[in-house]
Amino acid sequence: MRRVNRRWGVVSLPKIGDVTFRWSRPLGGTVRNAVVSFDGVAWHAGFGVHASVTTPETHARPDTIVGLDRGVKVAVAMSDGRMWNRTFTRPGQERDLARLKSKAGRQETACRKLGAKTSNRARKVRAEIARTEAKIRNRRRDFVTWAANRLCRQFATIKLERLTIGAMTATAKGTIAEPGTNVRQKAGLNRAILDKGWGMFEAALANRARTTGTRIVKVPAAFTSQRCSHCGNTDSNNRESQATFRCGSCGYQANADVNAAINVRDAAEAAPPLTGRAVRDRSHSAPCRPPTQRQQRMALEAGIPHLYAGEDVNGRSSRATAAAGRSRTAARPTTTTRSATTTATSSCPATCGCTRSSAPRRS
Ligand SMILES: [Zn+2]
Repeated sequence: MRRVNRRWGVVSLPKIGDVTFRWSRPLGGTVRNAVVSFDGVAWHAGFGVHASVTTPETHARPDTIVGLDRGVKVAVAMSDGRMWNRTFTRPGQERDLARLKSKAGRQETACRKLGAKTSNRARKVRAEIARTEAKIRNRRRDFVTWAANRLCRQFATIKLERLTIGAMTATAKGTIAEPGTNVRQKAGLNRAILDKGWGMFEAALANRARTTGTRIVKVPAAFTSQRCSHCGNTDSNNRESQATFRCGSCGYQANADVNAAINVRDAAEAAPPLTGRAVRDRSHSAPCRPPTQRQQRMALEAGIPHLYAGEDVNGRSSRATAAAGRSRTAARPTTTTRSATTTATSSCPATCGCTRSSAPRRS
């Protein structure tokens, strides 16, 4: 790999040959591996580098704490009253996507023999869908990493509601015998929830916390939107509308999402459950599990190269290199699910050399 000039570099890859790429940011470490990927818009060359950065013991601003409320209308509301939001879909893009997808569906079913060749037109339509979706995904990732970076630098402790996104976005369809109600409305809400990228935001927070020493705490989400953060009165009537909260008991009035964020901040940290691994592992630490495929995909989309234990570019065990440092992609983060390579990230507290995030989960 060499740099041609300020803007361009050339990397020679096995089986591919020399690849020229835009040198979009400083490397910041020793190159360990390369990932070449296509995200529907462009090709990316990502480099995993070994930068000897470790998670600091204490945050640069100790004793700072914030509660976050993730919402559909406002992506993130903070207990200090700030609200961050962004729309990821440009006007017209949703309509374009719907049109393209129905077109692709038609092409798929139109008198096509099983295993028949995909037509050039169908391929073009699919590429256009991928391109549009990648653009939306990129905007979302930009927002979540931006927000995670700011929050982790500003606060030593970040509290989130524990959300079961999978359960929250379950379909309302029901069964043929017992059809559900408001199916289309629920589908729309599901789309809105998934569009805000809550899960990716969590992954991005955990990733950034590794370098700032921020503690991420999840608290039970129940009643955070109904409880008055001033007097503690909990009533479903307290919420006057989507945006305003008015306490029926003390008259406290605030933005509903900010009120919820304050509740999250003040919520007691849940004690670790005395079942499962907490009990089992008390005497000896069990090896951490490798991340699931889903976790890996989420991490990748958040710009985090998630890695298997014991994997390395050169085929060596990564245990030797797992001790310090994190790997990051340089020259634009890799974005697709089509990633190929790995190195050591950081820091399982145990010595198993796995790559679970080092953000402490429990108090
Ligand atoms: Zn009150």
